[in-house]
Amino acid sequence: MKDVQNYYAENPIEQINKPSDECPFHNCDGSGFLWFKDWSAATEIQKNGKLDDEIVYKSDKKFEWKEPCKCYEQRQKQVEHKRNLATAGIPKLFANARFQNFSTKYAGENKEIATIAKTAAINYVSNFNVMRQSGKGLYIYSETKGSGKTRLSVTIANELIDNGESVLVVKATNVSKEVRKTYNKDSGVGELEIIKEFQQSPVLIIDDIAVEKPTDFIGELLYSIFDYRVEHKLPTIVTSNKTIEEMSDMYSDGRVSSRLKKLCIEVYMPEESMRDRESEYENNQLEELLFKEAN
Ligand SMILES: [Zn+2]
Repeated sequence: MKDVQNYYAENPIEQINKPSDECPFHNCDGSGFLWFKDWSAATEIQKNGKLDDEIVYKSDKKFEWKEPCKCYEQRQKQVEHKRNLATAGIPKLFANARFQNFSTKYAGENKEIATIAKTAAINYVSNFNVMRQSGKGLYIYSETKGSGKTRLSVTIANELIDNGESVLVVKATNVSKEVRKTYNKDSGVGELEIIKEFQQSPVLIIDDIAVEKPTDFIGELLYSIFDYRVEHKLPTIVTSNKTIEEMSDMYSDGRVSSRLKKLCIEVYMPEESMRDRESEYENNQLEELLFKEAN
């Protein structure tokens, strides 16, 4: 008993929650906090028979308190990062995009092509379980900017999210940007962790692939993501203004294309800017209003 008393006299501050493997630093019990008890304060309590605020106050001693563990800060950074990642891809403009309001009327003479693409997307979502089992996604292609590729892919994302699926939407340019950010020593998130998120997301949508200058770095990065997703049959949706075939000259000696061929079914969007036509239509309506003759 005396030994125990001596021990606490010499080491009065004890960490109450024991380190466990749930903490990556093996400091806390995985809760993110370290709880301490100061036994010298407890000794004073013992002497006085109760925890006397006055004594604790005067002696400047706290009896029990908690401090954030190193893993807490790391976890906060990861949570914040995930939030950025998940929302960065879905433009605010498309927050309410659903099949119901996906209009093909601005596709002009190509309305038929747009309608086929829309129908394919609707069927993809309604047969999602079959698609998931075969690990298939879509490759939404059109050379023209503003043809509605992004809108269609984000509409699919919103519909799948409505059905309870976990979907990560990301602009292709942000894939490499997010990975590069981890080279900053304050990032708190490792390169492999980021790549893993893209590899392992239950559904991954990469918007506007191949707009970046193709480099070995991006080629290898895309390959490692797509190869993993092929292996694990994870649905992947990609939009692009290049065909899969055209991509083969751009990245990693055709290896990225060969993975995409395995992952995706190609869907064509019209070679017409639905976006421009939509703006034109909106402006026409407003111009009529602005320039109509006053009565
Ligand atoms: Zn910890």
